[in-house]
Amino acid sequence: MTGADFFDLSALNADRLERRTADQLADGFRDLKALQHPETADRYRAEAGYFFNFMRRFGADPAACTQPHVLRYLDYLASPTHPQHPGDCWDECRHLPYAPSSRQHRLDVLRAFYEYAIANGLGLSANPCAGLSVPVPAVEAIDHLDEWEAHDLWNGAREHSYRDGALVALLLGCGMRKEEARLVRIENLGKNGYGPTLRFWRVKRRFWQTINLPSPSAAAIHLQAGDRAEGALLPSPRWTVTEAGIREKAHLSDAGIDDILNRISHYTGVRPGKFPSHLGRKTSITMSRTIPGLPLEVTMTFYGHATLKDHQRYDAFARDTFKEPIYNPAQGRDFWHLAA
Ligand SMILES: [Zn+2]
Repeated sequence: MTGADFFDLSALNADRLERRTADQLADGFRDLKALQHPETADRYRAEAGYFFNFMRRFGADPAACTQPHVLRYLDYLASPTHPQHPGDCWDECRHLPYAPSSRQHRLDVLRAFYEYAIANGLGLSANPCAGLSVPVPAVEAIDHLDEWEAHDLWNGAREHSYRDGALVALLLGCGMRKEEARLVRIENLGKNGYGPTLRFWRVKRRFWQTINLPSPSAAAIHLQAGDRAEGALLPSPRWTVTEAGIREKAHLSDAGIDDILNRISHYTGVRPGKFPSHLGRKTSITMSRTIPGLPLEVTMTFYGHATLKDHQRYDAFARDTFKEPIYNPAQGRDFWHLAA
C-alpha cells in the first residue's frame, strides 16, 4: 500500500480548494465593498469569516451553504449561552446573545456576500439567505426590578447597615454604575438651591458631573458619611496613601461592590445570587421614564447617557410596559418635579 492510497489526498485537495474558494470570494467581496465604503469593507469581510468559522466548526462547507445553515447561525447569535459546539470558544461567543438589530445586520451582510459569490461562480442554486429575516420585537425588553423588589431592596439594605443603604442609594437612587459608585468621596457632597448635591466622576465619557440627590438617597448617603469630612464613602478594609500623602481607607473595588450586592440580594431575598450591579441603574432609569411630563433631556443628563438613542430605548420600554407612574422608593415622589 502506498502513502497516496492510505491518505485520500484527492479529498484533502478538494477540501483545500473549496475553502480557498469561499475565502477568496469573501476577499473579493471585501475589495468590491471597499470601493464604496472603505471603512466598512473589513467589517463585511470579518462577518463572512465569522460565518465560515461557524460552518466549519460543525463540519459544514461555506461553499455549499443552505438555508438551514443560516437559520442555525441566526439561532446561535440569539442564544444567551454558548450552545454545544466542537472546539474552543471563538470571539463571537463572548458577545452572545446579539440584539435583533445586530442579527438582522449580519444576515444582510451574508445575503449580500452570497449574492456576490453566486454571481462570481459559486455553485449554489439559490442564495441561502433569500427570504429570511430576523423578527424584531416592537420594543426591546430591559431587565428591571419591579416596584416591590425595589422597595424590599431599599428598605432591607438600609435596615441592615448604613453602608449597604448608601450603596443602594447610589445604584438605585442615583442610577450610578458600580465603577462610579465605588469612587464617590465624602468631600464631594454639597448643596445648591434645590437641596443636597453630589459631584462624581462619570466613567463612560470621563467628566465630573454634579447631580442633585433625591432626598431619601441623600439621607442614606449622609448617614454612611457620618461625621467624616473626607475620604471614600464606601471604604474597603484596606489602607492606602493618597497623592497628597494622606493615609486613608481605600475605595472598594468593583469586585468588592459585587460581593456586597450579592450579600444584599440574599438577605433581602431580591434576586438572590443573581443581582448584576447594572440592575439598579436599569431600574432607576426605567422608573424615571414612567413619570408623566418629564422631558427626555432631564433624565438623559441625570443618568449621564451619551446619546439620545440609548435613552430613548428606556423611554420606549417604560411607555410600553407601564400604564401608571412607578415611583422609585430611593427617589421619592417629588424628586423629578423639583429638579425639572
Ligand atoms: Zn462558545
